[in-house]
Amino acid sequence: MNTQLTVPMKVAIDMPRQVDDEVAGDIEKESVFVSPAIDRIVVSEDGKSATVVLKDRRNLDAVMDKAARFLDVMAKQVSGYEIKVFFETKRKDEGPYQRDVNSGLVERGWLHDYGKGQVAYNGPVLKLARLINEKAAELYKREYDATDGHFPALVDSETLHKCGYFDSHPNAVTFIGNMVEDFDAIEEFRAANSCSEGAHMPPQDHVHMDGMCLNPAACFPAYPTLKGKRYQTGECFTWMGRVFRYESRNISGLDRLFEFNVRELVFVGTDDYVKDVRNRALPLVEELASFFDIDCKLQTATDPFFATVSAAKKFWQAAQEVKNEIKIPVLDADGKTTNIACGSINLHGNFFGERFDIEDTEGNAAMTGCVGLGIERWVLAVFTQHGYDPDRWPEAVREKIFD
Ligand SMILES: [Zn+2]
Repeated sequence: MNTQLTVPMKVAIDMPRQVDDEVAGDIEKESVFVSPAIDRIVVSEDGKSATVVLKDRRNLDAVMDKAARFLDVMAKQVSGYEIKVFFETKRKDEGPYQRDVNSGLVERGWLHDYGKGQVAYNGPVLKLARLINEKAAELYKREYDATDGHFPALVDSETLHKCGYFDSHPNAVTFIGNMVEDFDAIEEFRAANSCSEGAHMPPQDHVHMDGMCLNPAACFPAYPTLKGKRYQTGECFTWMGRVFRYESRNISGLDRLFEFNVRELVFVGTDDYVKDVRNRALPLVEELASFFDIDCKLQTATDPFFATVSAAKKFWQAAQEVKNEIKIPVLDADGKTTNIACGSINLHGNFFGERFDIEDTEGNAAMTGCVGLGIERWVLAVFTQHGYDPDRWPEAVREKIFD
């Protein structure tokens, strides 16, 4: 038996330059995408070196070379942007935060975790998820008279390419694979599975990808439907989107799912219209947080782009204040407080207007923006902040969640 290949092995490596905690955190998270031979990369506390934890020590030189190139790119990231806070809500509930809500909900039978970044839920979890979604939809209807809609969970690669997704988040894409239209290949697949104990996947050359993907951002499927529109002022759309982001080994309970739901608001039109909708969205998010009586902050942020694009795009996002993130504190299993991003308010400039031929009546590419609320993360946050005792929940919420 060759135990040499299965025993984890740690190799120290110098950082090309010292990094701060924020970049160190990004490195650890992104390191699952570096090599199949690497379990993870952990940066030392002083940010000057890193430990590469290997799952497989074959081709060590090539693997370490790849790790070094990854660290080189990541260490160029600029962090520590000045964070601007737009508002902060404070809850009235004086009870303690509930730790490890993911396990607590599973124990109560309200949540089923399949273990691969998907969850099923029922009872109070389902009722809360619905209430968060409906309450947000109601606010968008009241404030903007937003048009409700429905969009598919599959999106084609041409749309994703136009949206710039492959360029920003290539690691998070999920392609759809189908059996080749071949009698023998299909029969081979059928026969392999007819009496087998476990599932047998077809060989790679029997599967083809025709460019269909699982949609990774709620607003993308809306833009092709707006092609050719000409706006004098603008329009708002809202819907519940099903979203998929491949997280590899980073999946974790309700806080980091592969498949989740997003209440989306898209606004499109003239510069004035889009800015106005965005400005009015800030107090709406505040109203939503107050309705659920939670501690919550809205602040400037940058997207977690893939390593090689991070530096330039992050700088642009931070400099323009085009992304505001809804941060809500939760407790992890160890009782440590982390602020998770439960949604964002984004301005896209005329990016989508140009790419999808949407204009104002003057002939300028239309401006767009969106607000996305991650429903399952809101559920996690509300349960964390109020626990399982209905008496601690705000009355308007309690009577809808607990019978
Ligand atoms: Zn969006």
